[in-house]
Amino acid sequence: MASAIVVGAGVFGAALADRLVGESWDVTLVEQFSPGDPRAESGGETRLIRCSHGADEPYTRSARRAWKLWHELDPRLVVDCGVAWFAHRHDGWEAESEGVLRGLRAPVERLSPDEGAELFPDLAVDDLEFVLLEPEAGVLRAADATRALVARARDRGARLTTAAAQPAGAAVRVGPELLEADAVVWACGAWLPQLFPDVVELRVSLQGVALFDAPAVWAAPGVPAWVDFDAGLYGHALIEPHGFKAASDVDGPEVDPGTRPAQAPAAAVEEARAYVKRRFPALVDAPLRSTPSCHYSATADSSFIFAPHPRHERLWLYGGASGHGFKHAPALAEHAAAVLAGRAEPEARFALGQRRPGRGLRTAGFGRVPPHGPAA
Ligand SMILES: Cc1cc2nc3c(=O)[nH]c(=O)nc-3n(C[C@H](O)[C@H](O)[C@H](O)COP(=O)(O)OP(=O)(O)OC[C@H]3O[C@@H](n4cnc5c(N)ncnc54)[C@H](O)[C@@H]3O)c2cc1C
Repeated sequence: MASAIVVGAGVFGAALADRLVGESWDVTLVEQFSPGDPRAESGGETRLIRCSHGADEPYTRSARRAWKLWHELDPRLVVDCGVAWFAHRHDGWEAESEGVLRGLRAPVERLSPDEGAELFPDLAVDDLEFVLLEPEAGVLRAADATRALVARARDRGARLTTAAAQPAGAAVRVGPELLEADAVVWACGAWLPQLFPDVVELRVSLQGVALFDAPAVWAAPGVPAWVDFDAGLYGHALIEPHGFKAASDVDGPEVDPGTRPAQAPAAAVEEARAYVKRRFPALVDAPLRSTPSCHYSATADSSFIFAPHPRHERLWLYGGASGHGFKHAPALAEHAAAVLAGRAEPEARFALGQRRPGRGLRTAGFGRVPPHGPAA
């Protein structure tokens, strides 16, 4: 039986451990916190799952596959509310996404601004060209989904060790012990550049989320999640117990993941509030429920990393989730497991090394100046 050590039980590591043990590998998962901990990038309340990726077909396919795999894991982890895209241009990201989705025969609807307004109890559409609705999309319960992956991996026989591991050549140091396996995968999110400083380069940024109270008429799944790509804002309807979410997708200031403040920067909350006031006028006085922080671990081109270490052939680096990785995790784990088993070649776009700068896979961040100021 082939053996694997996966370090990091965020959504990337948890999904891979679950996949490998499901393919009869002997799996040890090492995590410094508890799975779903809010200090990790996969912790916290919710993540959107959308298939639109502009003109990028492989990521669109990956999200479609992941949609199915999340439902197979547990349909209660997915809020099937759809995602509405607020298009400001006829020929922007939304139009490109629509073309790819139609090519893949995925359900998608182009609505006039007035038709789009009917999806929400109140929506300002005076600046929109159209609204693109993805019905097979929605919201994942993030911390719950991460824990569910770890729980299924353990049910299938994986071992979970709680410890901060350190690389020791191709082995893994856990306290006084050296662990070895046929494959060692470091899926350590924003901690990867600290663990492998000469190999992994990521920009770790402080991000903030605003969760508002809203009347029941704003509840998902009746009301969709939403993205305003050109404005760099996204969110979702009322999802209990969390609330109505609004957040900026624009890169925040750099931050150390180990000392990230728990609360979102005030400017990020103000930006979310201003957008809600403008786009959903009925929520102008909605009280805040919470304002958690999070961090992105971004590559230069926002494509992920899954690549062998240049000096240790059994050691793999897995991360660079770049603010949009959550939804893809189970589909990406299928690819990673196939590569580790020798059934597939690693994807060139996930390789280490120089990347051409770009943010096209994310919903924003394309060159705008981060509005939040220095990290607290
Ligand atoms: C505000 C916000 C909104 C987002 N919205 C979306 C969205 O709508 N849709 C979407 O798809 N994605 C979204 N994302 C991105 C998504 O959350 C991330 O892409 C994903 O969670 C990254 O997972 P990961 O496993 O790579 O990292 P992590 O979850 O950080 O996992 C890495 C794990 O490694 C552990 N670790 C690190 N070092 C060690 C060590 N030495 N020993 C042991 N364990 C270690 C850490 O504790 C951590 O648990 C969002 C992210 C943020 C912050």
